[in-house]
Amino acid sequence: MAGCFMNTYHRVSLEGGLPLTFVRGEGSWLFDGEGRRYLDFTSGIAVNCLGHGWPDLVQAIAGQAARYNHVCNYYQSDVALAFAEKLVAACSGAGMIKVFLGNSGAEANEGACKIARKYSLVKYGPGRHRIVTLRGSFHGRTITTLAATGQDAFHRDFGPFTEGFVHIPGGDLDALDRALDGDATAGLLIEAVQGESGVKPQSREFIAAAARLCAGRDILLMFDEIQCGLGRTGTFLACEAYGVQPDVITLAKGLAGGVPIGAVLAGAKAAEVLQAGDHGSTFGGNPLACAAGLAVLDAVLAPGFMEEIVRKGRRILAALESWKHPRIREIRGRGLMAGIDLNTEAWPLLEAAAARASPGNPGAKDGTPGLLILSAGKNTLRLLPPYTISGEEIGLGLGILREALG
Ligand SMILES: *Cc1c(COP(=O)(O)O)cnc(C)c1O
Repeated sequence: MAGCFMNTYHRVSLEGGLPLTFVRGEGSWLFDGEGRRYLDFTSGIAVNCLGHGWPDLVQAIAGQAARYNHVCNYYQSDVALAFAEKLVAACSGAGMIKVFLGNSGAEANEGACKIARKYSLVKYGPGRHRIVTLRGSFHGRTITTLAATGQDAFHRDFGPFTEGFVHIPGGDLDALDRALDGDATAGLLIEAVQGESGVKPQSREFIAAAARLCAGRDILLMFDEIQCGLGRTGTFLACEAYGVQPDVITLAKGLAGGVPIGAVLAGAKAAEVLQAGDHGSTFGGNPLACAAGLAVLDAVLAPGFMEEIVRKGRRILAALESWKHPRIREIRGRGLMAGIDLNTEAWPLLEAAAARASPGNPGAKDGTPGLLILSAGKNTLRLLPPYTISGEEIGLGLGILREALG
């Protein structure tokens, strides 16, 4: 029974309060044990970016499972090497030249913070260890990445946190200048488009100022692209749309299409900071994850793929805007990442959209699908459909959302 899980998650429940439990996925669809179908506008929070059961991804994982699942990091794995080379090449336009592979977003951001701390310590000595992040940011759930996360709601109950983290308001150029002043700061960690706090893109001016100040003061500019990277916002890396080259970029979520993975990429300034013995991870560079990651990169880097994301994303935003629905206060989006501010709470609507799946949904026609969407904070809906979603599925999902809004 569900009672065996620690009570860490608000679960979406249907009638009777039972948590919605999936048994199968196919393309943009998930199926529960009663045979009801749900159109997936979540991609598991930007994770299974190619939907469910993408044939090349399935083959890559199955094929690698048959070859070998794991070797320890005393040795190199052919598939980890192939993946790392392809990933670094894909990020070379943003100046990236090396990568460290781990298992999650939080672990990737921990690695980034370690790089910033050591870079500064070796070059400038102790005391210059501060890491500046933005209010509304989300960087993970470990004690250090919680310290980095600029939302008070996450800071209850778990202190003391790792020291040396400072949060400033995004968009505030004076606060940025002040926070990066005084020879105390090793790194600036930012999400170009904040995901967890409601799909909030930083302005071009702010990112440009951040890049200029960091370069001038030898502070590492670090982009957390765990949610907004990998094509989600319509460019392979979100930083490309801002025309900046960070010193460090973290990726995770969608990078292996649903298999756990995380990556810290570094440009010329930061690539040699970590040396043998400085950092590591038992599962880092896991062959199954890397085989999956290769399949994801093959799909996402195919010619025309980013244009498709942009085209699909524009269609969704245009439809949402055209409704002029009284419950919608503001709509924000980049690529296939959309945030919808409501003047009511998001969670009940999220459950109502899922509950449209019949049978069991009062008044639903037979075979009516449910729609899976996300919240981001109390009053914001978040849509992160798989990149592979079809035009017909977009239309269907928007229709369900429109009806659920009432
Ligand atoms: C999800 C997320 C993380 C944390 O990733 P985990 O894999 O859950 O540790 C960090 N940063 C951003 C921007 C995220 O969206």
